Amino acid sequence: MQLTSPAPAVKSSDTHCPYCALQCGMTVVRLGEKNSAQSRDFPTNNGGLCQKGWTSTELLTHPERLTWPLVRDTKGGVLRRASWDEALDRIASYIVRLQAQYGRDAVGIFGGGSLTNEKAYALGKFARVALRSSQIDYNGRFCMSSAAAASIKAFGIDRGLPFPIADIPHAQTILLVGSNAAETLPILMQYFDRQRRNGGQLMVVDPRRTPTAAAADLHLQITPGTDLALANGLLYIATQEGWIDEEFIETRTNGFEQVRRAVSCYWPDRVERITGIPEKQLYAAARMLNVSSMMILSARGPEQHSKGVDTVLGFINLALAYGKAGKPYSGYGCLTGQGNGQGGREQGQKADQLPGYRKIDNPEHRSHIASVWGVEESTIPAAGQSAYEMLERLGTEGGVRGLLVFGSNVAISAPRAAYIQERLRTLEFLCVSDIFLSETAQLADVVLPTTQWAEEEGTMTNLEGRVLLRRRALDPPTGVRSDLDAICGIAMRLGAAHHFSSNPCEVFDELRRASSGGAADYRGITYERIEHEKGVFWPCPAEDHPGTPRLFLDGFATPDGRARFHVVDHRTAAEEPDSDYPLYLTTGRIAQHYQSGTQTRRVKQLLEPAPEAFVEIHPSMASLYDIAHGERVRVITRRGSAAVKAKLTSSIRMDTVFMPFHFAGQGRANLLTNPALDPVSRMPEFKVCAARIEKEIGC
Ligand code: SF4
Repeated sequence: MQLTSPAPAVKSSDTHCPYCALQCGMTVVRLGEKNSAQSRDFPTNNGGLCQKGWTSTELLTHPERLTWPLVRDTKGGVLRRASWDEALDRIASYIVRLQAQYGRDAVGIFGGGSLTNEKAYALGKFARVALRSSQIDYNGRFCMSSAAAASIKAFGIDRGLPFPIADIPHAQTILLVGSNAAETLPILMQYFDRQRRNGGQLMVVDPRRTPTAAAADLHLQITPGTDLALANGLLYIATQEGWIDEEFIETRTNGFEQVRRAVSCYWPDRVERITGIPEKQLYAAARMLNVSSMMILSARGPEQHSKGVDTVLGFINLALAYGKAGKPYSGYGCLTGQGNGQGGREQGQKADQLPGYRKIDNPEHRSHIASVWGVEESTIPAAGQSAYEMLERLGTEGGVRGLLVFGSNVAISAPRAAYIQERLRTLEFLCVSDIFLSETAQLADVVLPTTQWAEEEGTMTNLEGRVLLRRRALDPPTGVRSDLDAICGIAMRLGAAHHFSSNPCEVFDELRRASSGGAADYRGITYERIEHEKGVFWPCPAEDHPGTPRLFLDGFATPDGRARFHVVDHRTAAEEPDSDYPLYLTTGRIAQHYQSGTQTRRVKQLLEPAPEAFVEIHPSMASLYDIAHGERVRVITRRGSAAVKAKLTSSIRMDTVFMPFHFAGQGRANLLTNPALDPVSRMPEFKVCAARIEKEIGC
């Protein structure tokens, strides 16, 4: 008789993709030691997954995975293996010493937009209650902060999309401003495809003819940094042609007359000169917006600028003037990028915010949160510095001396990255919690190995404001703990253990109470409801409340219920091309990679087709420099230089070069980017600066 071993048991758990803000539903299947991702019919992705989603389980058992804490005994020494107790003791003792020597704000926290709501909430509370430091911000400041600030100014609330993505196919016209959704949110494209099959029209504004722009009915190939002039120019045409909705403006908005006067100088031939978009296309675009249902959706293209807030306000003005907000299948929305970019900015890890989207300088908001946290209101610090401002002062007089980084890789993702890397080196203490030894973790004094998405429980809020639940599908490797465990461990050593829990469900229950009555109200959302209803849209103030898929139908979230127009004027980028740096440099994402590439650069199926950094150059421009496709070139700005391969493509404007920002080393796009900040959102100007290219001699 032949003996056979029993077939390994198949275990499967429903969860969500670890990457972008669509948070596609997926099932993690474990057969023996092998994990795989399978698509799942969830209302957002309808069974679809992109290449990043399909390959996401590769990271769970990756050989470079961190599976024990690391510590460095001396500056410049090597990282060595340590126990959790040793690592946490060391973190706590540095915190105590630095705060005793320099004051409470000497220790800061840098969080991330991919952390669960529970972690984001716990980090915000840890900074204010355990550290009593004002110094906390996160990488979402580099993503959606301009759109968030503009939405609050105009509508009184910031929820990326005020409607579910299921509404997209029903809009007659969609104006997509600076979004390459086909590569950054690939599964979202099914909604735009359906919109066009329904007879709708899609317009895309982008300096590059991306796959998204190529799929559009009209591509406006704009000069980088001039989106605000475009918005004002389209509004000028709409007012001249009588396409604005006077009744809507009269009954549901404030402030239009000042805006009407302000855009009267944006006549089409002037706007053509600023934006590079032919007058004929400007008229065509303004006409296409004159339909009964219309959406304007922005992404990082117009937002990551030193005038990002004003630019978004310009497009909100346009949507309001056409009467397309707070109506079915219409409105302005922001396409959030990071996995929990939405939830990450609601739970209090932003320098000026408390949970529930409360403001840290509002006495009532402070007192509500103090009562939930069980602390005196006076002990909650004031607003701290924004992300870049905190980073650029690291290690300096009055700056942060010890930094704890969770779920972020600032050595790659911050603008003027070489300078920020130097600042990180000057810290007296750096702790990084991550799944791999990222470029930031390589500089750390203590590295904590953290759980991945499939190994932990928690909620995420997707780009629609739909709160989703990730159930734990797998046990983490021995030696790996969740960030909530780490926060509790440090808090215990600081004598604040009683304020913190490592149980995500308990943290979420507290978050619900903290958010109650706030703009982002999660009071009525429970893990059970999320599972049963396939996500719940905030605001949801009570357990018998159905949630709010569509905002503004009865009024805007302003004190008088009316949306606000804002006068916004075009101005040039902080740095324009000149004789030394004659080109525009713009940066962005490509299909295979995500953010700083810490995860996706370790997935063979993603790295093989996109192994290294490159710069897109128009062939006519390349010929002026005698540069051939595939040759190595230097891209140089006032911040530094990067060495990358030339990719010649006629899909980009002649005056513009493009670099993806996912790569490390000499190909780091953020070695070049300009940290000029928006005065309101404190967003750096990632999307435009002046550059020159040079052929690399000797290669
Ligand atoms: Fe994951 Fe986004 Fe791709 Fe969906 S579209 S599978 S959430 S990366």
